[in-house]
Amino acid sequence: MDCQLKLRNLAKTFRSNGTERKVLDNITLTVKKGQFVSIVGPSGSGKSTLFHIIGGLIRPTSGQVFMDGKDVTGTKGLISYMPQQPALFPWRTIVDNAILAREVAGLPRRESIEMAREWLGKVGLQGYEQAYPHVLSGGMQQRVAFLRALLSPQEYMCLDEPFGSLDALTRYDMQKWLTSIWETQKRSVLFVTHSIEEALFLSDTIYVFSNKPTTVLKEITVPFPRPREEEVMGIPVFHELKREIYQLLKREQGRLAESSGTKEEISHAAPY
Ligand code: ADP
Repeated sequence: MDCQLKLRNLAKTFRSNGTERKVLDNITLTVKKGQFVSIVGPSGSGKSTLFHIIGGLIRPTSGQVFMDGKDVTGTKGLISYMPQQPALFPWRTIVDNAILAREVAGLPRRESIEMAREWLGKVGLQGYEQAYPHVLSGGMQQRVAFLRALLSPQEYMCLDEPFGSLDALTRYDMQKWLTSIWETQKRSVLFVTHSIEEALFLSDTIYVFSNKPTTVLKEITVPFPRPREEEVMGIPVFHELKREIYQLLKREQGRLAESSGTKEEISHAAPY
C-alpha cells in the first residue's frame, strides 16, 4: 500500500466582494508514514489554509489530498490537529482534555484514560491528571494539547506552529521534548513553523514555501541522524542549511517588497 499523505497540485483561490485572491498554487508535498515533515514560510502564505484543506474543512480550487493512496479531498476527521494555542477546555480536567479526540472517535473511555495517565507521566505531568488547565503553565498546556493529538487514533498529525507563543527557553525545551517523544512514537507529522532552526532540528524533510500565491520553493532532505541531539545545531551543515533556507526566504521577502512597493525587514529568521 501507498503509506503516505500526499498533496497533489493543490491550489486555492478565495473569492470575496467580486475580487479573487490566489493563496495556494500548485502545492505538491508528501509525508511518508513515520516521517516528520516541516513547512517553513512567510506568515500569510496560506499554511493554515493548507491545513484546513488537509482536514477537509475547506475544498481546494484544484488538486487533491491522498491518504494511503485514496483520494480523501474534502473528507473530515482523518487527521489529528494541534493548533497554535493549546485550546484546552477549561471545564475539563487534564486527563479529560488529553482523551478528547479519542472520546470524539467513540473509543472506550477506560482504555483512553489508562493511556492518558501513562503518557501524562512520560511528559512530566504526573500528579496533574485531575487538575484543570488554568493551573498549568503555557508549556505544560502545550504538552497536554500535543498529547491530545498524539493519543487521537488518526495516523497523520498536523501541528500548526505549536510553539509560536512560548518564550525562547520553553520553546527550546519543547523542541527537545518533541524530538524525544516523536523518536519513540514515529507518528507521521506535518509541522508548520516560522523558525528555520526548529524545522532543521525536528524534521526529516523541510518544504520551504514562497510568498502568495504560495508555491513550494524547495524540498530539503535533512541529513542529521536520529536520535537527534542538540549538538547537531552546532555543526557546519546545520548552519549551511540554515543559511540556504534564510536566503530563499529573504529573496521572497524582496520579491514581495518589490511588487508591493514596500521595504520590510525579514522577521522570521536570524540574520547572517
Ligand atoms: P498563514 O497561516 O500562512 O498565516 P492563512 O492560511 O491564514 O496564512 O491565510 C493566507 C491568506 O489567505 C491570507 O491573505 C488570508 O487573508 C487569506 N484568507 C484565508 N482565509 C480566507 C477566506 N475565507 N476568505 C478570503 N481570504 C482568506
